[in-house]
Amino acid sequence: MRSVIDDDGVAEGDTVFATAARMQEALAGRVLTRTDLRVPRFATTDLSGHVVSEVAPRGKHLFVRTDRGVTVHSHLGMDGSWRLYEPDERWRGRAFEVRGVLVTDERIAVGHRLRRLEVIRTSEESQLLSHLGPDVLGQDWDAAEATRRLTASPEREVGEALIDQTVMAGPGNVYRSEVCFLAGVDPRTVVGALPDPDRLVELTRSLMERNRSRGRRATTDDPRPGHDLWVYGRGGRPCRRCGTPIRSFLRGAAGARRITFVCPRCQPLLGEPTV
Ligand SMILES: [Zn+2]
Repeated sequence: MRSVIDDDGVAEGDTVFATAARMQEALAGRVLTRTDLRVPRFATTDLSGHVVSEVAPRGKHLFVRTDRGVTVHSHLGMDGSWRLYEPDERWRGRAFEVRGVLVTDERIAVGHRLRRLEVIRTSEESQLLSHLGPDVLGQDWDAAEATRRLTASPEREVGEALIDQTVMAGPGNVYRSEVCFLAGVDPRTVVGALPDPDRLVELTRSLMERNRSRGRRATTDDPRPGHDLWVYGRGGRPCRRCGTPIRSFLRGAAGARRITFVCPRCQPLLGEPTV
């Protein structure tokens, strides 16, 4: 099954990490000469004159900090992005999807389809993030704490817990399917039935680590398009390990349903199904 839903989950923690690294290189140390935040609350906010001090990722959140204690905070949501341009370069994408523009003399950062964009005091960042679990790609990553949070609700489905940002900050829909495949676990398995919850946490971290500076996300050893993922987006096609057709199903609350992919043979459902 292919649908537009297959394309969600694109902006996961690894994407945000790579975006932050590119923006840091392009903007840090430079003076903002113009800013244009196309959200009603900050439409008149003008940060020109501020020097960008740092661009930092945290899970799926991105922070552009300035020397005046101000942060432009964005959340890329499912398919948001920040792109960088030379001053005379033509912007790609649709103009009406542009949410934020940060201009310096040498480079321009343009945020498209951002789920959230706001200006906050840098000192308020920690408040904003207090609910997040350990950042999978953070320097202060804490695997034991992530496992503790993952196993805190034993009746919960593994697939739901894995993308809950209060458990771990970073993973999204693609990693959920891929991690469960590599762990040999059906994502509908309840957390309490997992023989080795540490392994899911480790797999999440190692896969995201591997991908954090790559241009493309790959969970197999073959980064070519169409070969790069085990199960995600491969509904109906044969499992790369056993040849069984990959199945897909929708999971999550109404309005927030996400597609999940599973090999029914490689990923047996452990314990009792929840539905
Ligand atoms: Zn299989």
